[in-house]
Amino acid sequence: MSSESVVIIGGGPAGLEVARGVAELGTPAVIVEQAAFLGGTPIAENYAALTPNFESAEVAMGRMIDRVNSNPLAEVRLESQVTACDGEAGDFRLTMTGPDGESTLECGAVVVATGFQHFDPGRETQMYGYYEFPDVLALQDLEAMLKEHNVVRPSNGQPPERICFVQCVGSRDRHIGNEYCSKVCCGVASKEAIEVRQQLPDCKVFIFYIDMRMYGYWENQIYWPAQEQYHVQYVKGIITEVLQKGDKLLVRGEDTTMGRPMEVLMDMVVLSVGMEPSRGTREMAKVLGIAQNKYGFIDAANPPLDTVSTSREGIFACGAALAPADLEDTVSSAGAAAMRAVVCARAGAGAAAR
Ligand SMILES: Cc1cc2nc3c(=O)[nH]c(=O)nc-3n(C[C@H](O)[C@H](O)[C@H](O)COP(=O)(O)OP(=O)(O)OC[C@H]3O[C@@H](n4cnc5c(N)ncnc54)[C@H](O)[C@@H]3O)c2cc1C
Ligand code: SF4
Repeated sequence: MSSESVVIIGGGPAGLEVARGVAELGTPAVIVEQAAFLGGTPIAENYAALTPNFESAEVAMGRMIDRVNSNPLAEVRLESQVTACDGEAGDFRLTMTGPDGESTLECGAVVVATGFQHFDPGRETQMYGYYEFPDVLALQDLEAMLKEHNVVRPSNGQPPERICFVQCVGSRDRHIGNEYCSKVCCGVASKEAIEVRQQLPDCKVFIFYIDMRMYGYWENQIYWPAQEQYHVQYVKGIITEVLQKGDKLLVRGEDTTMGRPMEVLMDMVVLSVGMEPSRGTREMAKVLGIAQNKYGFIDAANPPLDTVSTSREGIFACGAALAPADLEDTVSSAGAAAMRAVVCARAGAGAAAR
């Protein structure tokens, strides 16, 4: 691989879109992916349908993967990791480990697309019983059930009659240091609520929220249909704990519209967990020597007008490695990173590519 190529670390939606863009611009692209498959978190975590169009995640990711696999200028190295990075913009040498042992890759630019991980709802401040009560799930657990068309209570294998979502778990929370909004979870919870109502029309579905944050067109595409067509019930309130009561879950908190305590019984509780930087994002920042923000996401060097440059020239970042992002944000920043990386790789060593 020549130094005119671009190496992309991570083969999720962001990395796939970068590889496609770089290769379509006529520059060789190499994806280095640690997993044994492409498609990122939507595939690894078995997401069902995607917002806003309810297309199967597998089909949508499959389309992105096909575009990369069918381009002769794009190469994919699975089960591989970058362990060191020497050189400068236009002339990097990456050390890699993979199934065939250690190797070196030369490239002109690097794009970090290492993504996110779900917030762990079992952390000490979280009183929702995620690891104690089988019928307490997280968004991604319900995604896997919806994908299988098998939404049942893990405790007894029966379809639930009442499900509630608890919003902002692990986001907008100063106690744990995640003050940011994770951006996707209001839309994803509403989308999952619709899918539950489609698959189990007799099941009552509630969403307990601080305030609903539907970015862009999602309000009209997901929020209003959830209420008007599917009769999902949105309740403004803060949930403080979940307890087992007989074979039900007791959800306790405050109804903030009425300003009074609230206790309701549910069959299943779904925690709308937020997005945190993946372990790979944190590790790559150190290996590549690029700055992270206080949450561990990669720090974009010059926002708001340049969102993909990092603190090291010739190394770019995109997608959920930068911040919580939906697929539209992810693919948009990936396109920008592809364009910047190609310019840098073509300019070669010593050129001012920024
Ligand atoms: C529950 C849930 C549901 C969602 N549903 C939707 C939806 O319906 N619509 C929507 O628009 N958005 C949705 N999102 C957001 C969407 O998942 C993200 O926008 C998208 O996955 C971000 O893509 P990415 O490639 O940046 O990161 P990821 O999807 O996390 O992919 C990162 C990739 O990098 C790889 N990697 C990590 N570290 C390394 C390393 N060191 N070396 C090599 N490879 C590495 C990983 O294995 C992975 O393949 C959802 C999010 C959540 C939490
Ligand atoms: S998107 Fe909604 S649930 Fe997620 S952090 Fe923001 S306000 Fe909370």
